[in-house]
Amino acid sequence: MNKPLILVVEDDPPVRNLITTTLKTNDYRYLVAANGGTAVLEASSHNPDIILLDLGLPDMDGVQVIRNIRSWSNLPIIVISARSEDNDKIEALDAGADDYLTKPFSVKELLARLRVTQRRLSLMAAGTQTANSVFVNGKLRVDYACGCAYLNDQELHLTPIEYKLLCLLSKNVEKVLTHTFITQNIWGRSWDNDIASLRVFMATLRKKLEPTPDSPQYIQTHIGVGYRMMKVE
Ligand code: CA
Repeated sequence: MNKPLILVVEDDPPVRNLITTTLKTNDYRYLVAANGGTAVLEASSHNPDIILLDLGLPDMDGVQVIRNIRSWSNLPIIVISARSEDNDKIEALDAGADDYLTKPFSVKELLARLRVTQRRLSLMAAGTQTANSVFVNGKLRVDYACGCAYLNDQELHLTPIEYKLLCLLSKNVEKVLTHTFITQNIWGRSWDNDIASLRVFMATLRKKLEPTPDSPQYIQTHIGVGYRMMKVE
């Protein structure tokens, strides 16, 4: 298999060097772009496996780069944002970014995010080959065709909303879903009280799904951002 090709979009040379050095020593190939215009161009001409995208770019907003790329490609985008850009990060995820890293980040975090994205890519590739109607994750099994879910081969008694939530999370396994994205999908709108309801439904779903709800195995909370279903071995 070819080494994965990563497009690094970052205008700050020290951060860019940290990323490219890490990629080089960990068996990745990479391309760099120092602004949004070049990023779009490189993405379309080299078809990278993953894009690492800084949100604060000199020529255009990183979110615009995502919208442009999403108009023709689903390739995974991990955004890099400063802590002060929390709202931008949420906007980026809503625009179609897959995951995020917050500056300052460690080499370990960067590699972990890349691994998760690669794993999701291979899961998705496997899913399209077999047109999976059953999702299996650790001891969890969701049978989309019959509309039921099982944990340890025991059927889970879920309410319609809990089941919808579980399907949405499982169909996007390893991807961070924002509160807005989830409520739009479940209720077709995103009002403040929908986000409050979402917390309640998520809590009841977890109670049924997680053996130890205090240290969740399946559903990760991203405070102020949303939720992610993790792939369990
Ligand atoms: Ca920047």
